[in-house]
Amino acid sequence: MALSEFDLIRRYFSSFQQGSAVVTGIGDDCAELSLSPGHTLCTSIDTMVEGVHFPKTPDVSGLGWRVLAAAVSDLGACGARPVGFCLALTLPQADETWLAAFSKGLAEASRFFAIPLVGGDTTRGPLCLSVQVFGEVPAGKALLRSGARPGDDIWVTGTLGDARAALDCLENTAFSEAEQVFMAQYYRAEPPLEFSAGLLGVASAAIDLSDGLAADLGHVLQASGASAELEVDALPLSAALQATYSREVAEAYALTGGDDYQLCFTASAARRETIYALAAEHNIRCSRVGAVASGAGLNLVREGAPIDLTHYNNMGYLHFQ
Ligand code: ADP
Ligand code: MG
Repeated sequence: MALSEFDLIRRYFSSFQQGSAVVTGIGDDCAELSLSPGHTLCTSIDTMVEGVHFPKTPDVSGLGWRVLAAAVSDLGACGARPVGFCLALTLPQADETWLAAFSKGLAEASRFFAIPLVGGDTTRGPLCLSVQVFGEVPAGKALLRSGARPGDDIWVTGTLGDARAALDCLENTAFSEAEQVFMAQYYRAEPPLEFSAGLLGVASAAIDLSDGLAADLGHVLQASGASAELEVDALPLSAALQATYSREVAEAYALTGGDDYQLCFTASAARRETIYALAAEHNIRCSRVGAVASGAGLNLVREGAPIDLTHYNNMGYLHFQ
């Protein structure tokens, strides 16, 4: 690389906003982070490979935002508050235009989610972005997948299916108004971290939506040993999605499309008012889409009548078979 590894790090990654938990940040052998008393560390790592998890893209800033948003989404799923993140960057060459755009989007997300960049690794090879996030949660209070109980409500935040719709226009050079909504959801997702942290002690289980509601809720049900009834008419669909697709395709995208980075959680019906108040406080759209039951499996219904999930799967929109 023409630009030395150290110059590259100094120029593009060393001036990110730091936080009070960062004792030592970029530049030493390890980052040193302090946790609040009585808290435990939550950590998760996400890797995105060009051509596999994202296309060769003109929106390089968007990519910087997206790789961090996808990783912090996992912290939100546990109700953890951000502490810091590391970036492992594999680059085919030190392209300064690319680096400037990427680090700009990454820095914007770092500020937005209040999570400082505290270290990383820089290597040469096919473009690959890996982000490891660190967060903290009061000991014993983390939201897990395994806590859903029969009778609990099932909730989702935001709208679903828009990021899947972005896959239909990702390669476009001009975008309609609706397509701009989809692209913003794809590149600039805003997982609801503060709202999620507010769900500690309120929600019984949670998961972030990365592979589509049907698959991700399925993980919660499996971990909890429960079944669920999901009301497809209650799925939160954006106006853009409804204006662009038939009802059936919009539902299929919401159920089986990935990359929404919204939150799905369960909670006792007694917590409804608390949840609506929390959603209003954080300006988060929050929709009740079904209920947990005993047994196993995910059952879709429309006005009480069962619908077969294989119907949507057979439409060919499954994110991951
Ligand atoms: P070491 O050889 O001790 O692993 P490096 O020379 O790889 O350290 O990195 C020097 C410092 O720069 C370390 O603090 C490391 O965390 C940080 N760093 C390296 N690459 C990145 C990156 N892409 N983003 C942020 N920090 C980085
Ligand atoms: Mg070292």
